[in-house]
Amino acid sequence: MKAIIPEKKLRVGVIGATGMVGQRFISLLENHPWFDVVTLAASPRSAGKRYEDAVGDRWKMPTPMPEAVKDMIVYDASEVEKVAATCDFVFSAVDLKKDEIRAIEEAYAKTETPVVSNNSAHRWTPDVPMVVPELNPQHYEVIEFQKKRLGTKRGFITCKPNCSIQSYTPMLHALKEFEPTVVVATTYQAISGAGKTFKDWPEMIDNVIPYIGGEEEKSEQEPLRIWGHIENGEIVKASSPIITTQCIRVPVSDGHTAAVFVNFKKKPTKEQILEAWKNFKGLPQELGLPSAPKQFITYFEEDNRPQCKLDREIEGGMGVCAGRLREDAVYDWKFVGLSHNTKRGAAGGAILSAELLVAKGYITAK
Ligand code: NAP
Repeated sequence: MKAIIPEKKLRVGVIGATGMVGQRFISLLENHPWFDVVTLAASPRSAGKRYEDAVGDRWKMPTPMPEAVKDMIVYDASEVEKVAATCDFVFSAVDLKKDEIRAIEEAYAKTETPVVSNNSAHRWTPDVPMVVPELNPQHYEVIEFQKKRLGTKRGFITCKPNCSIQSYTPMLHALKEFEPTVVVATTYQAISGAGKTFKDWPEMIDNVIPYIGGEEEKSEQEPLRIWGHIENGEIVKASSPIITTQCIRVPVSDGHTAAVFVNFKKKPTKEQILEAWKNFKGLPQELGLPSAPKQFITYFEEDNRPQCKLDREIEGGMGVCAGRLREDAVYDWKFVGLSHNTKRGAAGGAILSAELLVAKGYITAK
């Protein structure tokens, strides 16, 4: 398949632009070859203000605010028709109650504006695809059924999974032919996953918190939806492997680590696992999408890698890392994974999804 490359840049809106994820979208989209940020929307508190004034001292990115957005006047995200009229599609990162997010994202889709969402609200809506572009791009086929339900021609919603699962699901996916049966994973999650920095969460310095609300259920269930299939216009989740997780907050700014144990129906050799990880490629690599990492999974031979500080930015934060692969006394194999939670796991993953949707003709200029 050849990628459709847009003749001119598509006009993008960011809904929830003043928040942490919205800021990450804006930073990652600066100088994007296919997308131009033209519209920023947030709550009525920010509406009508210059973006720089609306954000005030809340800018949390390590790089400065792009000049191009500073003077943009922020829209009220609830003025859906007004916002939708300005752009070809939107990235959604609003923080509202789940039912309110579902409603506002559907309202945008119904204005014939595709919504690429960072939120969890639609992850289990049967006809909304939840996609990691390298793993389950075939789930975009369910969009046709969703459009029929919404009564739209080009408007639809798609979303990405929780940030935690990218630290182990890609490695397991690359080993699917060996049929994983049981997965036990503990995730060590960065504070940016809660939208925080050490400045605004000083209690996290020198601390570990053994609870992240709702995270274990997401970490256990969402990989099964990724591995599910389409039946009667809906995604039906896979029934195996059995996954059990513990999710722990650790004093790390960015980067989720996972310690994983796994049993297989057909136990692979170490060489087979390393080969499978090294050679794994998805559609984004085949199509050469702008944000696609060249090497999706990188294995580190050193015993003390991957490390958050050293390795989270691999492939611009869009690659995932593995290390410490060894046989286990209780399970077949154990290993450690790492992925950048706000790049690959959030805004970067959503941007890669949007690129794939453009390349496959689902998102076009209006
Ligand atoms: P945040 O920093 O609190 O930002 C929330 C954004 O939503 C702001 O732009 C805010 O605008 C806007 N908003 C709030 N109330 C609104 C309203 N009534 N109408 C329209 N816009 C409204 O949150 P965040 O950390 O960026 O997270 C955004 C979403 O992504 C959440 O649903 C969160 O669960 C999800 N998420 C976050 C992460 C992460 O790493 N942080 C990871 C995965 C998923 P104002 O500035 O005007 O209030």
